[in-house]
Amino acid sequence: MSKYNHGHKWLTVRDNYPNDYHKYGDEIDVFAYDYCNCNGPECKLCGYSFCKHCKDESDIPNCKASENNCPNCTKPLKFDHHKEFMRCTNCNWSEPL
Ligand SMILES: [Zn+2]
Ligand SMILES: [Zn+2]
Ligand SMILES: [Zn+2]
Repeated sequence: MSKYNHGHKWLTVRDNYPNDYHKYGDEIDVFAYDYCNCNGPECKLCGYSFCKHCKDESDIPNCKASENNCPNCTKPLKFDHHKEFMRCTNCNWSEPL
């Protein structure tokens, strides 16, 4: 899954079920998207979800939000004009050069 995440940050079991996280840790919640016989993960940055049974993982579009949101805390990034890279004003993450 992580190999083909296309910039998406999938919701984990911890995100969706804070009380059960000790059982499943930080595994991706593959039932974040759940419809009839279809289920799959959902991106916490852009809200994109797909059915892991119907959709080929290589077919997933790139995450639109990841270009503008911090991959660490998901807050919007600001462009630092002095250093000329994206920086998070919330957790101080900066784009690896
Ligand atoms: Zn996404
Ligand atoms: Zn399906
Ligand atoms: Zn951040």
